[in-house]
Amino acid sequence: MTQTADVIVIGGGVAGLSTAMQLALRGTDVVVVERERLGNGSTGRAAGLLGQLRGTAESTRMLMDGVEIVKDLEQRANVEIFVQTGSLRIAETPERKREIIDLVEMGKSINFDIDHLPIDEVSSKLPYMRTDDLLDACYCPTDGHLQPAELVSAYIRIGKSHGVTFRPNCPVGEMIVEGGKVKGVLTSEGPLYAPVVVNAGGPWSYLLAELTGTCLPTAALGHCYLTTRPTETNSVDRLSPAVRDRHLRLYTRPESGGLIVGMYGEEAVEYEMKDLPVDFDMSAMTTRRDDIHVARLIYAAQQRFPWINERTPMTITTGIMTFTPDGKPFCGKVSEIEGLYHCAGFCGHGIVQSPTIGVIMADLIRKGETDYDIAAIEADRYFEIPGFQDRAEVKTKCYDMHAGYYGRVEGKAD
Ligand SMILES: Cc1cc2nc3c(=O)[nH]c(=O)nc-3n(C[C@H](O)[C@H](O)[C@H](O)COP(=O)(O)OP(=O)(O)OC[C@H]3O[C@@H](n4cnc5c(N)ncnc54)[C@H](O)[C@@H]3O)c2cc1C
Repeated sequence: MTQTADVIVIGGGVAGLSTAMQLALRGTDVVVVERERLGNGSTGRAAGLLGQLRGTAESTRMLMDGVEIVKDLEQRANVEIFVQTGSLRIAETPERKREIIDLVEMGKSINFDIDHLPIDEVSSKLPYMRTDDLLDACYCPTDGHLQPAELVSAYIRIGKSHGVTFRPNCPVGEMIVEGGKVKGVLTSEGPLYAPVVVNAGGPWSYLLAELTGTCLPTAALGHCYLTTRPTETNSVDRLSPAVRDRHLRLYTRPESGGLIVGMYGEEAVEYEMKDLPVDFDMSAMTTRRDDIHVARLIYAAQQRFPWINERTPMTITTGIMTFTPDGKPFCGKVSEIEGLYHCAGFCGHGIVQSPTIGVIMADLIRKGETDYDIAAIEADRYFEIPGFQDRAEVKTKCYDMHAGYYGRVEGKAD
């Protein structure tokens, strides 16, 4: 095992892999240590939607850059991974209509390709979706999706060709910290030394922070989506636009002739990651069709897609996401321990955020600064605030954020 590196990245999900690749592209010697298989944590369970529109100009701009980075990766790795389908946000209440008006205005102000779409055009783009109750919709033609495994492969391939070393099946059990500085990690294969360590541990990230005696306010929450199987009467074109219906808390996209429908409901299963087996494999997670969260998902899906019901041929994908108290990730250096960086807490949007986050992390580590305004995502933004050192309180705050995630109205009312 390599004994030293410039940077150790803990976690081989999209956050760690993108960071490692961007560091290597800038000439840094990086090792990625992963407890299991690369890309097999939350990343391996993701639906892969790449929607750029967010509630603020800054976060939308970051995701617009992310799509450009994905296109650059396609060229560098000589693969096609991004499927540009366009996407819609729909409004069935006056508040949501107002939200769409505000978001279209915001998007246009930063040259994001977005406009209102008349309801008859929504119907012709999505003949399999109920539209008679809609008050407004907006269309973002440059949105799309990808298969997370293909993004993972591209990050690995480009990273490897620029010198990144990958250590799968190599869990970190301890962090080496001396005199307030991180010095490296102890892994199942022995010690590894570097002056910089990045915690990109996804749902496990708070446990990695605990190894340094610090508290990272993230929590691990369950999430599932359904994928219908195409039938003679119900098939979905592969280039059909994705849809976000925040009133019903749903997101959708086409998949192999069927439809993926996921939901950010008011309730979620909470996981305590240290109670899971050491060889826990997220890809082996299953959920019963009669599980209450699945039942709620199917019920909500049926409100928008009346042909979906309990008897519809479908698969259910379930996984674990990392949530934070304010719905924003923790990216950057930790003031308490020199050399320690967090890159975690992506609240269900880590795939779409990872391309730009890799650039931000690499610039922060190498230059101590980034061209992006990262005030909202800085890693140590809670350290002085009481209540963020206590696990039980942190979990409650993260759970509440998840419960209101899609329910909240964005735009000027946000
Ligand atoms: C069902 C579902 C659907 C989703 N859909 C979307 C979507 O459509 N679009 C989107 O943008 N996002 C989506 N997400 C969210 C997205 O998957 C995550 O935000 C993203 O994958 C987070 O990446 P990560 O690298 O932070 O975490 P992970 O992918 O979980 O990677 C963390 C890695 O750290 C490793 N690790 C942990 N502890 C240790 C240790 N001690 N030593 C070594 N390694 C360790 C883990 O094994 C893991 O591989 C979805 C998530 C789920 C669960």
